[in-house]
Amino acid sequence: MNIKPAVESKFDKQVLILGPCSAESPEQLENVIVQCEDLQPDLFRAGIWKPRTRPGYFQGIGTQALEWLTDLSQKYGCKFCTEVANAEHVEFCLKSGIETLWIGARTTVNPFYVQEIAESLRGTKVKIMVKNPLNPDLFLWLGAIERLHHVGIEHISAIHRGFSFYGNSIYRNVPRWQIPIELKRRIPELQVIADISHISGKPEHLREIAQISYDLNFDGLMAEVHPNPGKALSDAEQQVTPEFFKNEILRKLIQRSVFTDNSQFNIKIDQYRQEIDGIDQEIIELLGNRMLLAEKIGEEKKQENISIYQPDRWNQIVEVLSKKAISSGLSEEFIFSLIEAIHIESIQHQSRKMNLENTQESTT
Ligand code: PEP
Ligand code: MN
Repeated sequence: MNIKPAVESKFDKQVLILGPCSAESPEQLENVIVQCEDLQPDLFRAGIWKPRTRPGYFQGIGTQALEWLTDLSQKYGCKFCTEVANAEHVEFCLKSGIETLWIGARTTVNPFYVQEIAESLRGTKVKIMVKNPLNPDLFLWLGAIERLHHVGIEHISAIHRGFSFYGNSIYRNVPRWQIPIELKRRIPELQVIADISHISGKPEHLREIAQISYDLNFDGLMAEVHPNPGKALSDAEQQVTPEFFKNEILRKLIQRSVFTDNSQFNIKIDQYRQEIDGIDQEIIELLGNRMLLAEKIGEEKKQENISIYQPDRWNQIVEVLSKKAISSGLSEEFIFSLIEAIHIESIQHQSRKMNLENTQESTT
């Protein structure tokens, strides 16, 4: 696609974007800048228009805060980025000279809004970062990037902020790392930044998520920092002070390299990988056998005219396997998505057995 990164790294390393969830006052923003002095983020962030999931929450200061961003950028020689959700927001930002924008997760889900934003950016030099949509839909994310690319925007990056889900998770938004990995596989030059705050939802998970992002060779981090997180007007539970971010997260992260020529290491890894490949083959074979049994059940159910979906049986499977998963060191989320996938496949096998032959009978 020939896309250039939206964020340049000052030190030719992973990029760093820091700042509060929302701009609240000029003093708050100035405190953030001063307290981040030794962290030297490549970009500061601050939301001005806040799309809240439910009404009644702080919706951002609005255009007035744009002046704060531009005044402070001049005073400290730093750069701010902010979120835009429609063409009007873009217009205000262009007038204020904000060069880098981001599209939030609640906007990426809507191709009309993304297209409207893209049209309003046609012919500009704006750099834009696209957060993943709320739902785990790779193509909405990819589509938003394509829409921006088609209007001639050169500098586009992706921000991975995790995905909404219904159920229990230790994270606010489940990471589903395979989706940004697939995005990067399709657009190898794309800069992908991990928004560790919106994935984690709590300070105690920030470091672990940041380390995974480093280990998966993502290109940088976005994190929400606030001089007084407890008093933040939005996302108070997940924000940390710049000091905490420096000492408890950034300093403790381990940077690793992608390759090594240490042959002993490479031999050992190859052996483990062979074992893993063997296990994968077995898993597929076992799943195949499981589907054959599901088909046999399908044949019986057809004779008896019994429905495919049996809620009690499904609940029992979920319960037994969740327990087994925990004792085997697997997460409940993982096991739930796995058995759900297996269940869907089983239903398809049974349904084919029960209905396809009906169709054949009725056509003969
Ligand atoms: C934010 O960055 O503060 C925000 C609202 O994020 P998201 O769009 O990822 O929910
Ligand atoms: Mn936020």
